[in-house]
Amino acid sequence: MSKSINIVIPIYNEQGTIPELWRRLYSVVQTWEYRTQIIFVNDGSQDASFQILTELHQQFPKHIAVVHLARNFGHQSALTAGIEHAHADAVILMDGDLQDTPESLPQMLRKWEEGFKVVYAIRTKRKETFLKRFAFTTFYRLQAKLTQLEIPLDAGIFSLMDKQVVDIFKQLPEKNRYIPGLRTYLGFRQIGIPIERGVRFEGKPRVSTTKLIKLAMDGIFSMSHLPLRVASYLGIMIASCSFLLATVVIFLKIIGLATPGWASNLSSTFFMGGIQLIFLGIIGEYLGRIYDEVKQRPYYIVQEKIGFESSSEPKLNSN
Ligand code: UDP
Ligand code: MG
Repeated sequence: MSKSINIVIPIYNEQGTIPELWRRLYSVVQTWEYRTQIIFVNDGSQDASFQILTELHQQFPKHIAVVHLARNFGHQSALTAGIEHAHADAVILMDGDLQDTPESLPQMLRKWEEGFKVVYAIRTKRKETFLKRFAFTTFYRLQAKLTQLEIPLDAGIFSLMDKQVVDIFKQLPEKNRYIPGLRTYLGFRQIGIPIERGVRFEGKPRVSTTKLIKLAMDGIFSMSHLPLRVASYLGIMIASCSFLLATVVIFLKIIGLATPGWASNLSSTFFMGGIQLIFLGIIGEYLGRIYDEVKQRPYYIVQEKIGFESSSEPKLNSN
């Protein structure tokens, strides 16, 4: 029997893109032998995505399954929901705005056939604004410096994972998920292939800048303790400097050169206040994440599933 593939696609208000996405995906899927099921995760869309996806399933019940979430849980949670509903021999993750091009899927599958357990796209030629590209580049490099893991630069969601990796991914308990980091953390034979990042087919990005910042923070704070340690290092440095400074001040006092220095006093107070606030903030970042984990709330809630058999196994029909 041929191998099976699940393609997980999160959807948030993509009514204008879904038909074109499906058209391009379908023409690619038809060229291969794999039994393919696409799992759309409707992340609480407020537009007609719900109806469009449901109709698409009715039209192509063999190929399309949909998980409707109870509300908008965010990109990473929607992807996680899709992964947890996948049962195929390999799972592909891709965005639903056509920035991840369906035409590059055969390339990924070839690497999988060669024996790689994880194949991820290295984005070339990002077509975002200069500011966004700059922010991404800075983030990826900062993250590479701070985390002990060698998270590949410029690799995002677009990837393929073998069932063996997916099964472990499903067992990860954490809620603040940064999928590209976790994917690296899992290990196995991984390979990156350069794939040009397309332009968003329609509309503005659905992930707001605030959410992107939150994701970037997750990418660093959930993968590294270094920011916490920086507080200790800086503390030691400042303490040593003040000790030296104190010696100088005492010396000046003894030789009678001390002047009432309110400026230096004031600036050092501000400086210390600033440093303390920054590190309180950093501790807060970790504390908030610990709180989220401790609450043990689900990271998504399913409202309705269509196209899966009543058992937990999704239906995987042959082509
Ligand atoms: N998305 C989602 N939930 C959200 C925001 C976005 O499922 O809360 C989906 C969106 O429909 C798209 C993918 O996630 O398919 C990536 O979103 P977007 O293109 O806005 O992100 P960017 O390309 O800016 O990273
Ligand atoms: Mg996009």
